[in-house]
Amino acid sequence: MAKDKKLMQSDICNGCGICVSVCPQNIKLSKADDFDVNKAKLAISVTMGAAVIDQNVCIACGICTRNCPVSSLTIVPA
Ligand code: SF4
Ligand code: SF4
Repeated sequence: MAKDKKLMQSDICNGCGICVSVCPQNIKLSKADDFDVNKAKLAISVTMGAAVIDQNVCIACGICTRNCPVSSLTIVPA
């Protein structure tokens, strides 16, 4: 089913990684027996000092938007 909303990232991200650790999709993936943080397709991860969203994995739940200390993440209509 297509999502009617999606997560957007702004350029004020400081790469703190809080969003990565609170994301329920990431938490679910991390519980797999063969979880490898370097290979896993996470919903959100930090690369080169900034958060990167994988829209195929993110379910736009918005939990990360409420935990980002600089309000860099926003849920918008898809
Ligand atoms: S919106 Fe939800 S699923 Fe998507 S990255 Fe944020 S916490 Fe994870
Ligand atoms: S989006 Fe927010 S919570 Fe995620 S790494 Fe950037 S500053 Fe931190």
